[in-house]
Amino acid sequence: MSEKTILVWFRNDLRIHDNEILLEAIRKADKILPVYCFDPFYFTKTSTGEPKTGNFRARFLLESVAGLRKNLQAHGAELIVRTGNPAEILPQLCEEYHVNEVYHHREVAYEETNISEQVEESLWKIKLNLKHFIGHTLYHKEDLPFPIKDIPDSFAIFKKKIERDSNVRPCTDTPGEINIPVITDSGEIPTLTQLGLVEPIDDHRANIKFAGGETEALKQLQNFLSNIKQASPKTGKNSGSSSVSSHLSPWITIGCISLRQIYWEVLKTGNFQHNNGPLILELLWRDYFRFMFKKHGQKFIAAKNGDDVSDFAENQDELFDKWKNGTTGTPLVDAIMHELNATGYINNYSRQITAGYLVNTLKVDWTKGASYFEEKLIDYSPASNWGNWAFIAGIGSDPRDNRYFNIARQTGELETKGDFIDTWLCDIAKSLHVSSL
Ligand SMILES: Cc1cc2nc3c(=O)[nH]c(=O)nc-3n(C[C@H](O)[C@H](O)[C@H](O)COP(=O)(O)OP(=O)(O)OC[C@H]3O[C@@H](n4cnc5c(N)ncnc54)[C@H](O)[C@@H]3O)c2cc1C
Repeated sequence: MSEKTILVWFRNDLRIHDNEILLEAIRKADKILPVYCFDPFYFTKTSTGEPKTGNFRARFLLESVAGLRKNLQAHGAELIVRTGNPAEILPQLCEEYHVNEVYHHREVAYEETNISEQVEESLWKIKLNLKHFIGHTLYHKEDLPFPIKDIPDSFAIFKKKIERDSNVRPCTDTPGEINIPVITDSGEIPTLTQLGLVEPIDDHRANIKFAGGETEALKQLQNFLSNIKQASPKTGKNSGSSSVSSHLSPWITIGCISLRQIYWEVLKTGNFQHNNGPLILELLWRDYFRFMFKKHGQKFIAAKNGDDVSDFAENQDELFDKWKNGTTGTPLVDAIMHELNATGYINNYSRQITAGYLVNTLKVDWTKGASYFEEKLIDYSPASNWGNWAFIAGIGSDPRDNRYFNIARQTGELETKGDFIDTWLCDIAKSLHVSSL
C-alpha cells in the first residue's frame, strides 16, 4: 500500500506546540509536508499608496517563519517556503510530493477566507481535499453554548454564558519526531527588500523589542508569568510597570503561541482572581470579536456605507493626515501616534484614545483610522482591529456595552491631568518636542 502524505499549510499558526493540524496530520499520515507561502497580496500597496503590511510587522513575520523552520528542523522536519499565490503553489507542491490531503486552520476575515476558497478550488481541480480545522480562539467553536448565528451580540451576555457553560480545552500534545518526504528545494525566506519594504529602524524609546517566533513567544509568556507572580494581589499592578499587560499580541496574532497555552500556564500560577482575571477577560474580548466576524461577516467593514457622511468633517482628509502624522496639536494623541509610527506598537489604552479622538473629536471616517492601524500595527489582526474600531465608532454589534464611547471626553481630562499619563508617554512627548503635557 502506498504511503500517505499530508501537506500542512501554515498561516497564522506558526508553532509546533498545541497545533492541532500538525498533530492530526502526523497521526493520520506516514509523512507530512510543512509549507509556508509568502503571498504577494499582503505586500501590495493600499489605495492610499501605503504598504498593506508595514515593515515592523513584515520583519516580525519573517522572524517567525524562520523560527518555525528552526523548530521543525529540531523535530527532524523541514519547512518548505515559497513566495507566490498559494492557490498556484500548493497544487504544484501536492503534485510534486504526491500529497493526499491538505490541512489548514480556518480563518474568519474576508481576505483570508477568500484565499482559502481559491486554494480549495484549485486543489479540487486535482481532486484533493482542503481540510479545515477550527483553531485561533480560546474557546473552541464546537464548545460554545450557542450556534454561531445565535451568539449574543452583547459582550456582557456572551461572557456570562461562556463562563457558565463552556470550558477551555486542554492543549494538544507537542509532537516528537516528524517524518517528511525527501525535500529537494526547501526554499529561501525572502528578505524585506524582496518584499518591497525597507528595514525598520528600531527606536530606542520602545518599551519592548518584539522578536518573532515561537521560542520568543514562549519566553515572553514566561516573563509575563514572573511579572504577575510578583504583582500586588490587591491592585493587580506590578511594582515596576504600570499594568500587567502581557505584550503577547504580536505572537498571538500569527499563532506563535496558542491561547490555550497562555490560559493554562496563567491558571497554574494561582492568584487567578486578582492578577490573571484581566488577562483572561482580554482573551475573551479577542474571541468575541472573532466570533462576531464569523457571525456578521463583512458587516463591520461594510458599515462604512451606512454611515451618514454628513457626520464627517468637511476637511476630514486634512484632519486625518494630522492625526496619522501626530500633528493634531493635542499632545497626548500626537505622542501616541509618534509612538505607533516609530515602533509599530501602542497599548490598548493608547489605541482607544487615538481611535476615539479620530472618530469623536476630529469627526473623521473611522475606516480610515482602521486602515492606518492595519498597515502600522505589528499585531494587526482583522477581527480585533476592525471589531474594536467599529465598536469605538458606535456601529459595532454591541453599542450598548459602551466600553469606549467616552474616550474623547477622557482625552480632554487627560490633557489637564499630567499625573494620569503614563510616564513613557511623557518621555516620548518631551523627546519628540511636542508641547508640554
Ligand atoms: C482601535 C483598536 C484596534 C486594535 N487592533 C488590534 C489588532 O489589530 N490586533 C490585536 O491583537 N489587538 C488589537 N486591539 C486590542 C488590544 O489593543 C491589543 O490586543 C492589546 O493592546 C495588546 O497588548 P497585550 O498583548 O499586552 O494585551 P493584554 O492586555 O495582555 O491582553 C492579552 C491578549 O488579549 C487580546 N486582547 C486584549 N484586548 C483586546 C481587545 N480589546 N480586543 C481584542 N483582543 C484583545 C490580545 O490578543 C492580547 O494579546 C485593538 C484595540 C483597539 C482599541
